[in-house]
Amino acid sequence: MITLADLPLRDDLVGAEPYGAPQLVVPVVLNVNENPYPPSATVRREMAEAVVEAAGQLNRYPEREALELRRDLANYLGHDLGPENIWVANGSNEIMSHLLTAFGGPGRRVLTFTPTYSMYPEYARNTCTEYVTAPRRADFTLDADLIVDAIEEHRPTVVLITTPNNPTGTTTSLQVIDEVCRRSDAIVVVDEAYQEFARTDSALELMTRHPRLVVSRTMSKAFALAGGRVGYLAAQPAVVDACRIVRLPYHLSAQTQAVARVALRHSDELLGRVHELAETARAFEAWLRTRGYDVVDSEANFTLFGRFADRHNVWQQLLDRGVLIRETGPDGYLRASAGTPAEMAALRDALDDISPTML
Ligand code: PMP
Repeated sequence: MITLADLPLRDDLVGAEPYGAPQLVVPVVLNVNENPYPPSATVRREMAEAVVEAAGQLNRYPEREALELRRDLANYLGHDLGPENIWVANGSNEIMSHLLTAFGGPGRRVLTFTPTYSMYPEYARNTCTEYVTAPRRADFTLDADLIVDAIEEHRPTVVLITTPNNPTGTTTSLQVIDEVCRRSDAIVVVDEAYQEFARTDSALELMTRHPRLVVSRTMSKAFALAGGRVGYLAAQPAVVDACRIVRLPYHLSAQTQAVARVALRHSDELLGRVHELAETARAFEAWLRTRGYDVVDSEANFTLFGRFADRHNVWQQLLDRGVLIRETGPDGYLRASAGTPAEMAALRDALDDISPTML
């Protein structure tokens, strides 16, 4: 047996740990912003049939360009987009790594605004892109001057704006994104993983005006397809061409493509709970405020709240009561995803059970 220390691991990876929130088997799982509602029996059956159909060709490589799926995704997004404007991969995680492999790399920088999604530094590290950040305002929002000043200071090739932002749930308006695109020639990637839950308009509205604007989306959240691993982007065809250069051949399996196409055919059903889940998160926020917690204004399907002197202890106490949420974001805060009414009741009860000692 040898250990990792005996292997010629890249210098910048020495000491790194695999990323990931704890995957625990507990009654109430509200830690990774998933949609709590699985697909219906009808949709499941259709997915199974589509996989059986695809399995008839599993001796062959999958359709490398995933053109049919890209056409379906373009139709879903609207805005006169066609398959040439869409790129698709195994989750928006892979979309981001394609973008940074194509536009980042040694000697280049990616800029984002903290606190934000904890995977971004890992995409940067993996692609040997320097990760630079600027802090968000005290209320975790962004304005154009803050972004443009940071661009002038750091000169990134890629700017990453997450709206609604994870873990804060705060949004960035179209006016701000429009102004940033006008005042910069960086590639501006707007990560809209939670856009379907938000009241703020999508940056897709700005697509025709700004050739370097990229909008990243996922089927993991609103579409309730986290296990299917499908993320995608909308951009100019040239950006798609750049991703096509760096993707691994046949990166998206035949069964993934088949399942995603069924999900898109049933978008009415799968997206049917989006409004309810956003309302669930807003109602939880109102409840937290009545209990005196500090709550961040969110437009996503999750809530960031605190402040706890020892958040790890609160997280553990919730877990001890069968409720798993996420220890992430600024010091003293915890993040909880919107779940079913029963799951939210369990979370509220658990908080009430422990709060006297914590607040
Ligand atoms: N972007 C943001 C802001 C996220 O929160 C997540 C998931 N937590 C992702 C991207 C990645 O999602 P996926 O790879 O499942 O599409």
